[in-house]
Amino acid sequence: MVGNGSRQSPGGGNADAPLRLSVLGASGSIGTSTLDLVARNPGRFDICALTANTNAKALAAAAIRVRAEHAVVADESAYGSLKDALSGTGITCAAGPAAVEEAAVRPVDMLVAAIVGAAGLAPTLAAVRQGTAIALANKECLVCAGDLFMSAARASGATILPVDSEHNAVFQVFEQGNVEQIECLTLTASGGPFRTHTLAQMRAVSPEAALKHPNWSMGARISIDSATMMNKGFEIIEAHHLFPLRQDQLEVLVHPQSVVHGMVQYSDGSVLAQLGAPDMRTPISHCLAWPRRMSTPAQRLDLAALATLTFEVPDPVRFPALRLARAAMADGAAASAALNAADEVMVRAFLDRKLGFLGIAETIERVLERMSASGELGEARSVEDVMVVDAAARRYSLDELARVAH
Ligand code: NDP
Repeated sequence: MVGNGSRQSPGGGNADAPLRLSVLGASGSIGTSTLDLVARNPGRFDICALTANTNAKALAAAAIRVRAEHAVVADESAYGSLKDALSGTGITCAAGPAAVEEAAVRPVDMLVAAIVGAAGLAPTLAAVRQGTAIALANKECLVCAGDLFMSAARASGATILPVDSEHNAVFQVFEQGNVEQIECLTLTASGGPFRTHTLAQMRAVSPEAALKHPNWSMGARISIDSATMMNKGFEIIEAHHLFPLRQDQLEVLVHPQSVVHGMVQYSDGSVLAQLGAPDMRTPISHCLAWPRRMSTPAQRLDLAALATLTFEVPDPVRFPALRLARAAMADGAAASAALNAADEVMVRAFLDRKLGFLGIAETIERVLERMSASGELGEARSVEDVMVVDAAARRYSLDELARVAH
């Protein structure tokens, strides 16, 4: 079940009214794709608030382009630049994490949650608690605090629409009325830039090579997570919270063409799949227009030209991140939050050339083992508990990095 399906039409009931929208993470890859759709559809959206972390210039330019009412940077040192860039425009601005949260709870029809990392949890959860429909890109909300997040959505009636292409695909073919007849769902993975590399080759890859995703254009963190396949691990956890299936019903298949995004298999042997060119504007538009559809400039599929679609089972030896994510999902919220925090630190270290590519999963595994041994992966019942686990995992991660450096 994805939310409660309470949002009947854009504009909250009147199909012709503009959809009032805020975008968290407006300067990023998902934020930019969202605002591209907004700019292509004049009159269809009213933009309330846009947020970024430090990139005041991009945020101000976007706010002016889509006539936003309010713009916020999380990093207070970027406030001066934002204020200068918006001077004379009538767009109000603010800075700091509390201001991001305040922007997230301004009344809108839908909030696009596209901050990267655990930093997206507090503002998105605040919006969920007041019943705002969420187009959810920030998978960390579900990885770090999936039970909390979905139970807050159930309590407030907030609808959660998945932006992540695989989950959006599954959402499109998931028969809510036939859940008992669903045998499994499959998330596809491109396999990333190192799909055919040997372990020895993978050990030596550079950040530049890892950032070059074969099919998708995305932010740095998710690009590295795609190369290690930790992203797919996070997506299994995300699917576990979005869809009412057992963990052993969630499958992954490597599909290098990234054309089939997700599939659901039913008890009669039918497999329903969603296909499309790898362009995030398709799943984003599906959320923005839901339960209708809207036109996008995404390339149309030419299956005859593609001719061949291939599928393979992921290699657990070269891509151990999938195993780590499944284990964390089975262990519960604290382990998943620790997994995410350790991954955030290790991806940063890899990008800063302080850690080799294979070291990302190796060090994350050691962090989780140490936290498990010291009893720090128990219950995480509140956001505060999650943030305590997150902070501890970051400390262990820095300690592991210091060991690697010596
Ligand atoms: P980007 O790195 O491109 O953008 C991240 C956005 O978050 C930027 O606006 C950034 O601001 C902002 N941000 C970063 N840190 C903070 C912080 N501490 N507080 C507030 N804002 C912050 O990421 P993506 O757009 O690629 O990804 C966003 C989310 O969507 C991630 O959770 C990702 O997993 C998910 N996702 C992305 C997909 C994609 O195709 N890109 C596909 C599916 C899911 P600034 O620019 O100032 O740094």
